[in-house]
Amino acid sequence: MANYDTVLIRYGELSTKGKNRKDFIKKLDQNIRWMLRDIAGLEYQRTYDRIYIRLNGADPSVIRERLQKVFGISSFSFTEKVKSDIDEIKKTALRIAQEAAGKTFKVITRRHDKSFPMSSDEINRAVAGEILRNTDHKVNVHHPDFEIRIEVREYDTYMTSEKIPGAGGYPAGINGKVLLLLSGGIDSPVAAYELMKRGLKVEAIHFASPPYTSENARQKVVDLASMVSVYQGSMRVHFINFTELQLAIYRTAGDPYAVTLMRRMMFRLAEETAKKNRCLAIATGESIGQVASQTLESMVCINDVVHMPVLRPLVCMDKLEIIDIARRIGTYETSILPFQDCCTIFDPKNPVTKPSVEKAEGFEKQFDWQSLINDCLDQVETMTVYPDQDDEEDFL
Ligand code: ATP
Ligand code: MG
Repeated sequence: MANYDTVLIRYGELSTKGKNRKDFIKKLDQNIRWMLRDIAGLEYQRTYDRIYIRLNGADPSVIRERLQKVFGISSFSFTEKVKSDIDEIKKTALRIAQEAAGKTFKVITRRHDKSFPMSSDEINRAVAGEILRNTDHKVNVHHPDFEIRIEVREYDTYMTSEKIPGAGGYPAGINGKVLLLLSGGIDSPVAAYELMKRGLKVEAIHFASPPYTSENARQKVVDLASMVSVYQGSMRVHFINFTELQLAIYRTAGDPYAVTLMRRMMFRLAEETAKKNRCLAIATGESIGQVASQTLESMVCINDVVHMPVLRPLVCMDKLEIIDIARRIGTYETSILPFQDCCTIFDPKNPVTKPSVEKAEGFEKQFDWQSLINDCLDQVETMTVYPDQDDEEDFL
């Protein structure tokens, strides 16, 4: 096993420059430190295009798994740090090549220190020559079994034969805050993940209708929020008691406009809650055509009651693609637990697929929904969930 002592973290060529770039790196650095906060002895160093972590004996396998969850990292490697000296570099490269799996290789050098006496190409040749002379390995520049990556800095050179893909995206929390309508279903936790990946901080709002919905259904939402909170450190969840409003809707509109009205009320409540909590947009797990309330006509009619942008990160995804992501991020098994949601309980038999704003407004004129909405807002219950339920600190 190579003597990997330093993690080298890459964040790729950012299109943003100047202050944005500085903010990106600062936030990324902060998020990485948070993710590894319980691992003793780590030392961090930050440069223009890399973050380095000295392991000082810490277990690489835990660090590997955690870093793969940090948005903003394009890739990372466990590396050996040696002096920037060609003999040291050759000696270490030979050992790495002897330990690597496979017979064909390619050397890739990046020379950050332009005062180093050899060019990148000369280093590549010198290192490849050393390996060819001392092993029966062969060079293959197109499909090598392994690569030897060398980054030459002023004093130190970092060497590795592996490059681990990162989660990509932007550091969580750098692009502002959104309020996501989080149900207990498959889609909205995936939406949370996609929004966080774009650097948005996500707060959640959930509508429950006790006693028609159970404590289990509520706990399921807490569990899902906790699972996705790992990508941003924690998550605030606002619970709205929706029962009275929902009953009033069904008394007034009945089938088939109930769902349309219900969703218009959800959006109104979400927008108010977003404003109070300084969220700049609301978001949902909707996908075009998936159910009656997700036709384009329905979206128009539901959107009509809010002024904020509504972000729908899953809008063009297939259900199977969404399920794939849900499995990958580990929310799927919890999402399919069969607890009743407020939508499923009052599920009408024939929901309208092409609702009109005029008809919806006509029903809404028949009852005092505004005071029911105010009641909901007066009773909102807010909690903060963490990836580890006993964790109490916050980092964003
Ligand atoms: P999901 O799997 O996310 O529940 P779905 O395919 O079941 O989605 P709907 O039930 O029509 O579709 O919900 C569409 C979106 O509305 C959800 O993705 C979520 O953002 C929001 N939503 C639905 N029910 C609730 C609820 N009880 N609380 C909060 N948001 C909800
Ligand atoms: Mg649902």
